[in-house]
Amino acid sequence: MQQQPKHQQHDVIIIGAGAAGLMCAISAGQRQRGVLVLDHARKAGNKIMVSGGGRCNFTNYYVEPNRYLSRNPHFCKSALSRYTQWDFIALVDKHGLPYHEKEEGQLFSDNKSKAILDMMLQEVADAGARLRLKTDVQQITPLPDTAAPYRYQLTVEQNGLKETLHCQSLVIASGGLSMPTMGASGFGYQVAEQFGLTVLPRSAALVPFTLQPEEKELTEPLSGLSTPALLSCEPAKGSKNDKGKPREGMSFNGSLLFTHRGLSGPAVLQISSYWQSGDTLEIDLIPGLDLNEHLKELRQTRPKAELKTILGEHLPARLAKALCEHWFDNTTISELSNVKIEEIANKVHRWQPKISGTEGYRTAEVTLGGIDTDELSSKTMEAKKAPGLYFIGEVVDVSGHLGGFNFQWAWSSGWVAGEVV
Ligand SMILES: Cc1cc2nc3c(=O)[nH]c(=O)nc-3n(C[C@H](O)[C@H](O)[C@H](O)COP(=O)(O)OP(=O)(O)OC[C@H]3O[C@@H](n4cnc5c(N)ncnc54)[C@H](O)[C@@H]3O)c2cc1C
Repeated sequence: MQQQPKHQQHDVIIIGAGAAGLMCAISAGQRQRGVLVLDHARKAGNKIMVSGGGRCNFTNYYVEPNRYLSRNPHFCKSALSRYTQWDFIALVDKHGLPYHEKEEGQLFSDNKSKAILDMMLQEVADAGARLRLKTDVQQITPLPDTAAPYRYQLTVEQNGLKETLHCQSLVIASGGLSMPTMGASGFGYQVAEQFGLTVLPRSAALVPFTLQPEEKELTEPLSGLSTPALLSCEPAKGSKNDKGKPREGMSFNGSLLFTHRGLSGPAVLQISSYWQSGDTLEIDLIPGLDLNEHLKELRQTRPKAELKTILGEHLPARLAKALCEHWFDNTTISELSNVKIEEIANKVHRWQPKISGTEGYRTAEVTLGGIDTDELSSKTMEAKKAPGLYFIGEVVDVSGHLGGFNFQWAWSSGWVAGEVV
């Protein structure tokens, strides 16, 4: 009589039922692999649900490696080229889900984000993969060669009951540290460290800035107001990147949103991924206009016009009014000397708000840094030091710009791992 194993055996166990883990389950399941997805949260895909302001910005027409930050900017190329934005769009089309392009190639669901999550869960079920929620993974132990083809043992607990699971391939898809209320944990980094993999420093990215109290007099009453701006980040003098080279400046055009705590909006979130403490943030509130020249011209043609009126022709009226209350005197243009005009133009084009920091992981959309890509195969996402162990999605040191790039990385890295696990 054949002996029953004392533990459940699985071809593939995936820890994390987020975007990357679900995609990996789909591609592995479609290859007839027996897949179990574990998650400690009560629901799968929490971040998909809240993404894109409730309409999931699921990918971008213009996915390029240069839209990703990583110590090795080449690492993401392989996965992104093998499971592309067109592959994900084809999946969305197959399910007949309507979507639209918002700006710069950003694709959003016409329906709530739940439509995208339901599509993923349907695909997971169709691929025969199983999902187990509210399950804590307490221990991971490598198995001896005698247990081949099984390589890893997991001790898990669900509803107070402990269990031992064995798997051939173990995929860590537990995400980054951003938004602990959504189930984020440092689990993936701990597993990497357990197996001797380098984990690069992490920080909150795509995150709003908080401002020092003296700035709030201007910004707090403007809370909720948004205006187009050009944001630039000038690295602190002498600051070097992780390769010891001088860090480069970065600029983004886009909306700037004033909040109770400071500054947010797409342009702020984008630049936050490049900003480090000590750097200077510079904001051009009227990009594309030479205010210096403009005001000097108007001094001749409309000398009686008030500064507030002129600024209000290029800025939201509330902002123009606030600037004239806090930064400038609201005089008529004729009263402004050349020096004064230059001062005004300089402040409007080169506002350097005093930043106290970011809102941190509480509101960050992603985590910068993570598992060093040098530790992984870019083709399979398998750890070079631990055969059968894979890391995918946000836990890896690959972070995208705002605009659907982070989900595309999750889909692509999840898919390529699923092809080999
Ligand atoms: C508010 C918000 C909006 C966003 N909007 C967009 C958007 O519109 N477009 C876009 O491209 N990106 C967006 N992002 C980023 C995107 O959500 C992430 O990049 C993406 O979800 C990462 O996928 P992942 O599968 O690697 O990790 P996650 O989606 O974070 O999934 C990780 C999973 O692992 C589970 N887990 C964690 N620890 C453990 C543990 N110890 N044991 C078991 N399970 C564990 C978690 O519960 C979670 O289900 C947004 C992020 C946030 C926070």
